[in-house]
Amino acid sequence: MRCPFCQFPDNRVLESRSAESGHSVRRRRECLRCSRRFTTYERIEFVPVVVLKKSGERESFDRSKLLQGIVAACEKTGVAPAKLESIVDEIEAELQQRSVREVASSEIGELVLQHLQALNEVAYIRFASIHRQFKGIRDFVETLNHLQNTAEPAADAAPEAYAPADRAAAETASMSHS
Ligand SMILES: [Zn+2]
Repeated sequence: MRCPFCQFPDNRVLESRSAESGHSVRRRRECLRCSRRFTTYERIEFVPVVVLKKSGERESFDRSKLLQGIVAACEKTGVAPAKLESIVDEIEAELQQRSVREVASSEIGELVLQHLQALNEVAYIRFASIHRQFKGIRDFVETLNHLQNTAEPAADAAPEAYAPADRAAAETASMSHS
């Protein structure tokens, strides 16, 4: 960050503080050449994510639409609404922190399935039936088999399913310390 007074590129941080309700970090800096002080703010980058639909159309990522789909799959399963919101939060955070801004709708569906698999079997199968467009009993049985085959290590698999969001959080943490 160049000094706004003399354009010198190096400075030292005198103080770092959380700002904007924790959404940014405010830093007071001192230029190493002219010794004048200035303030910088650091925020997590937020860029719109574009979803490529099966039809070939593109639309901006819509979290309420994603939430609706998950809510429908989890109806009467007893899964807490806050949990569903947090799935959407995690998926959105993961998409936000990717270097590529475009994502296929099918890929978002698979991300949802990863979360639902660890959460609730009924919801998983319901969502899979819509997302993967079951064409008959064979597709249904295949999905059931997949669920059964992965049921054993589910406890181990769960953290892995959450790994991308954790990684984003870790990067965010290291960003704010740099
Ligand atoms: Zn300066």
